[in-house]
Parts: sequence; structure tokens; C-alpha cells
Amino acid sequence: MMEYFLALKNLTRFDMKTITVIFLILLSTSFLYAQPIKNYALVIHGGVGVMDKKSMTPEMQNEYTAVLNQVLHVGDSVLANGGTCMDAVEKTIMIMEDSPLFNAGKGAVFTHDGIVELDASVMEGQTLKAGAIAGVRDIKNPIRVARAVMEKSEHVLLTGSGASQFAKEQGFIPVENSYFHTEKRLKSLEELLKKEREAASNDKHGTVGCVALDSYGNIAAGTSTGGMNNKKYGRVGDSPIIGAGTYANNKTGAFSCTGHGEYYIRLGFSRDISALIEYKKLSVAQACREEIRKLTQMGGTGGVIGIDRKGNIAMEFNTSGMFRGYVKSNGKKEVAIFK
Ligand code: ASP
Repeated sequence: MMEYFLALKNLTRFDMKTITVIFLILLSTSFLYAQPIKNYALVIHGGVGVMDKKSMTPEMQNEYTAVLNQVLHVGDSVLANGGTCMDAVEKTIMIMEDSPLFNAGKGAVFTHDGIVELDASVMEGQTLKAGAIAGVRDIKNPIRVARAVMEKSEHVLLTGSGASQFAKEQGFIPVENSYFHTEKRLKSLEELLKKEREAASNDKHGTVGCVALDSYGNIAAGTSTGGMNNKKYGRVGDSPIIGAGTYANNKTGAFSCTGHGEYYIRLGFSRDISALIEYKKLSVAQACREEIRKLTQMGGTGGVIGIDRKGNIAMEFNTSGMFRGYVKSNGKKEVAIFK
């Protein structure tokens, strides 16, 4: 100890200055490294359905996997660069709306009358603000207009021509309904019509959704769909119904659903999951599983993705497959299709 003090005493003023500078540099870098990297995470789905490995060619699987990976990549960079959970929800869903692979935006299913009618919704967990549109025929990216309804109107849900008028006033350029049409969906409608049945088709589903936790600790959810193949009479499903197909609350979690919408509406599906977490203290995964159990019991099919503020996630479904994936700030990432 004595030697240490003697050595210190012998240091010149220059030495002391150097040591101080080094000390300050070390302190500042260690401070930088000690900064907690805030968690973020994002989960996506591209719909459920009757999918089995035999009926889906490896090429098709690769196509879906590639788009899902691209969607996760974009969501990851939005959140890594300080974007909000709502930015991530909007950007990721837009990619799936633009892809003809999914039943949302381009490539959406046809109604009985051979047109495309789209539904979408978003919800913010911090404020409980929400926006949705239903039955729109000329909006390229319904998820963007759902967000505009939340942020720029005093309403939650706008339908049909009213929603289109609002979109125009907000500066969105309308598209012809033919923009959404794809051969695959037309064929599947024709098959259904020929068989004269209204349900059970291989591409009945294909709705898209995203739930995200951002680095500010907030969560959000969004869902976009063409609804059910061969739908009639201006039918609207669960996707634009807050508390059915979409729900977000910072206290519990954020959820986006896909499946037979009538069951989801009757169950108040996503709001019920939130209640299970709030009142029964279930985890996100437990609550989603429990709600899927209720769905199965009622005879419905579908799936749900969920996330909470800690970055716990869920991807539950009772069908043979659900296009899905997640990415987390710790680098974990997964894309899957089958059970
Ligand atoms: N839930 C959507 C609806 O019923 C359809 C789906 O998710 O496939 O409109």
C-alpha cells in the first residue's frame, strides 16, 4: 500500500492528466455499453388454412417463406431504428397486402359477385386508440387507411363508400377493383360456385396480421383481409372488429386473429384473451391457447398471434398450418408454416 502511495506521489502532472483522460474515456464507453438495449419484438401471420406438406409444393413453401422472411426483416429494421410498434405493424402488413400470396390487398379472395371487398384494423396498446375500415373496394393498402381512421378521424370504424371517401380526402389514390384480382382466387371462387357450397376451400383463409413491441415499451396490433371466399350480402368478418380480430392493451397484450370470423366475433376473441390475462393472470401463450380451446369447442377454426410488453409471444392455431414468424431484438427469428 505504502509503495502505491509513493508511486502516486511521484507521478508528474502530465501523467495525472493522461490517467484522468483515460479514466474518463473508459467511464464514458462503459456507460455506453451499460445502457440497457430496450427489447423489441414482432410477430406476423399470413393466415391459417387446410395446409399439408403434400398439397404445398416445395416451390410454394419457398415463396411463402421468402416473403415472410422479408416481412420480418422490414419489421426488425423499423423497430431497431426506433420506429414505433404502429409503424412496424403498418409497414409489415403493407408488404403482405402487396403480395398476391395472401388474402389481403392484392390477391384477396372474391365475393360471391366476383369483386374484392377488404377489411382492416389497427389498435394501439398505450392509448387504446383504434381504427378500422370494412367492405372497401378501391383502397390499395387498407391497413394504412385503418391507421388514418385512428389518427385523423374521431371514429373507429368506417365502411364501404364512406371509408373510400375518407381515404380520398386523406390523399390516398383509389385503385380499380381489378388491381386486387388474381387468377388463383378467381379459379377458387369458380370452383366453389360450381360445387355450390359456401364453405371449406383450401384458400378460404390467408388473412395477414402483425403484433409488435417497440423499444419504448408499447405494443400494437393490426389485421388485414379480403374476408371469406364467396362471401355474400356485404358480409363483414372479425378482422375490422376491435375486440374480435384485433385488440391491443399495454396492460395485457396485443393480438391479431385469423380464421372463421363469425366465431371470432361471437367469442369476442381477442378481447377475451386480454381479459384472461388481466383477470385470470394467464400468460399470453396460456391465454391464447385457452381461447383457441374455446374456438375448437364451438366448432370454429383459426389462429391468433400475441405479444406482451415483456416480449413474450404466442402463435396458436387449431388448423394444420398457419403462415407465421417472429423476430426479437436478441436476434431470435423463426418462420414456419405447418403445425
Ligand atoms: N377472419 C377472416 C374473416 O372471417 C378470414 C380469415 O382470417 O381467413 O373475415
